[in-house]
Amino acid sequence: MPTIGVLALQGDVREHQIALAEADALARPVRRAEELAEVDGLVIPGGESTTMSNLALAFDLMEPLRARVAAGMPVYGSCAGMIMLADKILDGRDDQQTVGGIDMVVRRNAFGRQNESFESEIAFKGFEDEPVHGVFIRAPWVESVGASVEVLAELPAADGAESRIVAVRQGNLLATSFHPELTGDHRVHALFVRMVEEAVRARA
Ligand code: GLN
Repeated sequence: MPTIGVLALQGDVREHQIALAEADALARPVRRAEELAEVDGLVIPGGESTTMSNLALAFDLMEPLRARVAAGMPVYGSCAGMIMLADKILDGRDDQQTVGGIDMVVRRNAFGRQNESFESEIAFKGFEDEPVHGVFIRAPWVESVGASVEVLAELPAADGAESRIVAVRQGNLLATSFHPELTGDHRVHALFVRMVEEAVRARA
């Protein structure tokens, strides 16, 4: 069973730990660099990316996080976690930093006021049997992606609005705008656990 950390600076850490355990991983919170060094993969939860950025800097975790991403550790980010994995963000706070790793531009709070929170069925690549129930809470969207990024899900266009990218993968990095940890459907976490298992096997 792979050991998967959940970045526990802020956000919905517990929900991810439960979803990971149900997807057959050993889940544990990560707050310090020594704890980060001990995990095979990491989830960056939903929450508030500006606060997470502050705390990652204050706890001296930003550089260790970047180093492990560069070394190929699998990371899954949901919502604020997606923002943390973006190489570039829009509508961030001026001093906000990200871990980066996915060649994408992510817009914070993109769905706007009237749509601050909503739910929608999402067709997700690889889960063709049944759509994923997407819970969006002040969610970001992916504004654009580089050539090496695979788009896994898009929110269909509604009322003249453009369709929007809401799930992506680049190598060992996975990100969703929405929160599968809140729905009891653990297919996205199970996908991530398989990614971590493959990375562990490739290392051995
Ligand atoms: N709006 C939050 C941010 O910018 C993300 C919201 C969430 O994670 N549910 O970090």
